Amino acid sequence: PNKITVQTLAEKLGKAPSEVIKFLMMKGVMAAINQEIDFDTASQVAEEYGILLEEEAEEVLEEKMFEEEPDNPEDLVERPPVVVVMGHVDHGKTSLLDAIRESNVTAKEAGGITQHIGASTVEINGKKITFLDTPGHEAFTAMRMRGAQVTDIAILVVAADDGVMPQTIEAINHAKAANVQIIVAVNKIDKPSANPDRVKQELADHGLLVEEWGGDTICVPVSAIAKTNLDTLLEMVLLVAEMAELKANPNKRARGTIIEAQLDKGRGPVATVLVQSGTLKVGDPIVAGSAYGRIRAMMDDKGRRVKKAGPSTPVEILGLSEVPAAGDSFYVAESDKQARHYAQILAERNREQSLRATPNKVSLDDLFSQ
Ligand code: GDP
Ligand code: MG
Repeated sequence: PNKITVQTLAEKLGKAPSEVIKFLMMKGVMAAINQEIDFDTASQVAEEYGILLEEEAEEVLEEKMFEEEPDNPEDLVERPPVVVVMGHVDHGKTSLLDAIRESNVTAKEAGGITQHIGASTVEINGKKITFLDTPGHEAFTAMRMRGAQVTDIAILVVAADDGVMPQTIEAINHAKAANVQIIVAVNKIDKPSANPDRVKQELADHGLLVEEWGGDTICVPVSAIAKTNLDTLLEMVLLVAEMAELKANPNKRARGTIIEAQLDKGRGPVATVLVQSGTLKVGDPIVAGSAYGRIRAMMDDKGRRVKKAGPSTPVEILGLSEVPAAGDSFYVAESDKQARHYAQILAERNREQSLRATPNKVSLDDLFSQ
């Protein structure tokens, strides 16, 4: 139930607080100026003044807390695309991602080791691309269940010697449902048994007509093992990103999505987050699901400590009170107190949702397992 302080009520009614207090007293309610009274009592007072006090639904108030303020167009700047790799098992998703990252690391900082944080950034022609590690299917189901939209582009890996398979079709459907642009990487073209034309035909049968056949699906023949055409693939990603005009406002409190999280023995709850708008900074009060806290430290995907992270940047953060769930949104609050308050609201919502989701059944086992 909603509560309101005497002071706020007086302001809403345009009366002196002392008058409201007097009124309450007459009704047998003793309340100080900054004390909270329940909505029913408040509306009785209002009625005395001939005013109908409308209860602003709590849920509406809460939604407002999490609402993102609209950006001025001049605050928007280009942001890197967020890319996920999808495709049938053994078609080379992991190999391709590794090859892209390795060749990118060795080219720039010899011996540099990419730390596994669930997402990483590569650079080509001075532009960044963010890759999520999570295989497309899992990422999409976990994230979409929570309504999170994090990816811009899906690289659909199809092995040239195997063609379109059940999980390829599933990936196409997922990407289409999520309104994500598909770029096809026909992989394993180093193999003598490779047959890229057959792959293109099968793709066409599933609604993806490649450019050279008059369609608008970009298709790049690659080999993750021989490292063929990887740069071309990345350039195509940048091209698609450019056409999509991906933008975000870096000059505000950050918000984004939890990519993965776990409890670390020494460091406590550790989460990899993707900043989607604003800039995340060390010291920010943050909330993600029922977890909250002040960011104690941030690391980038190369394991380097960073002080801030802008849009489309994945970072690992320390300082949360508990482990949030992958797919949870995170918000930077105005204060520690507000972060804690938001976390309470979100925890309550989670509880309500899980109560609704689980049938209200108690077995004997449950009763005796205390
Ligand atoms: P995933 O299940 O989609 O992640 O596939 P993996 O990356 O694990 O690759 C499956 C198998 O295909 C592994 O044995 C890889 O070495 C092999 N593979 C991946 N890419 C290529 C490629 O470009 N050429 C060849 N010849 N083999 C590849
Ligand atoms: Mg794999």
